Amino acid sequence: MRPLAYTLTYFIIIIAGFTAAAQSSSLITSADELPIRGFCIAAPRSSEVDTFVKFIREELASRKVNTLILRVDYNYQYDSHPELRDSMPLSKNEVKKLVTVCKANNIRIIPQINLLGHQSWASTVHNLLRVYPQFDETPHVKMPEKYVWPNADGLYCKSYCPLHPEVHKVVFDLVDEICDVFEADAFHAGIDEVFYIGDDKCPRCGGHDKAELLANELRLIRDHLRQKERTLWIWGDRLLDGKTTGLGMWEASLNNTHRAIDMIPKDIMICDWHYERPDKTAVYFAMKGFKVVTCPWRNPGVAVIQAEDMMRFRRDATPALKENFQGMVQTEWSSAGSFMDGFYTKKKDSNGGDNTSWNTFRALYQRLKEMNAIK
Ligand SMILES: [Zn+2]
Repeated sequence: MRPLAYTLTYFIIIIAGFTAAAQSSSLITSADELPIRGFCIAAPRSSEVDTFVKFIREELASRKVNTLILRVDYNYQYDSHPELRDSMPLSKNEVKKLVTVCKANNIRIIPQINLLGHQSWASTVHNLLRVYPQFDETPHVKMPEKYVWPNADGLYCKSYCPLHPEVHKVVFDLVDEICDVFEADAFHAGIDEVFYIGDDKCPRCGGHDKAELLANELRLIRDHLRQKERTLWIWGDRLLDGKTTGLGMWEASLNNTHRAIDMIPKDIMICDWHYERPDKTAVYFAMKGFKVVTCPWRNPGVAVIQAEDMMRFRRDATPALKENFQGMVQTEWSSAGSFMDGFYTKKKDSNGGDNTSWNTFRALYQRLKEMNAIK
């Protein structure tokens, strides 16, 4: 007979083994791949295209990234509106290099132009409102020489007026052209952090319900894209109630736009960004009938929890809801060049730590692989 202590130890080991298995299986149960494994970054500058092609081939493809959101804005040689081009914008040939490498590696490109909000940054007005100042929602707000936040005007970024009769003709030309050249079946319109909407002083928008203004703008963009069977993607923050959730004015809305969530078509794809905490708002979007991806930035610990949450949401959902939990998109807010520099040199954050977007990208994709979310 075995001594009692031996037997007990044996059972404890078995129990410990079961517990460990149960814990890990609560994370790693995916029989199917996460539908969207994404990466979002500014489109490279013209001089960075070849390095970025190499990055796509070696770093995105090897991690089975299948969705690349490229923030293009005015960094393209638009034929429809040459007056809106940045200086040194991407040529058609350079875009086709990106399209080719992505096609070869089964990566879907989704180009982004910021519509509605983000028409300025700090004290710089971006191309649309610089060339067409009549589209400005708040022309009475003058750009400061030296930008500080907070400020008396509540100026974060300028918006275009969604009720201006000529604005959509211009921006839809850009949307169509950028989708055509990238051969895209989806377009990302930004729509994050829109603080100026329905301004009291706007002769068209003043007094309107801000949620209705947002919803109508989203429907207009969505309907335009649907004509060519394209899908609209947006950041989700304007659809979350910043007061009730405590999420505040940046990653949720304190300007009464959140009720738009019940006024817009359900086929709009939601990119739900939370950078400091793994907020569970993906469940809210999914239960409202939207497909949603969760988007981390520069905190690897938060990103790993968000990835585990996404897997649990899919595992525990009803079949009706499961496919609304579409996946994860790593976001990067600097230029493609500085991301690649940080990534290849393993640069530390400003405190000498590892809270960087490149480190988060590595950690997120490592965790997804461990959980069998990527085959
Ligand atoms: Zn207006």
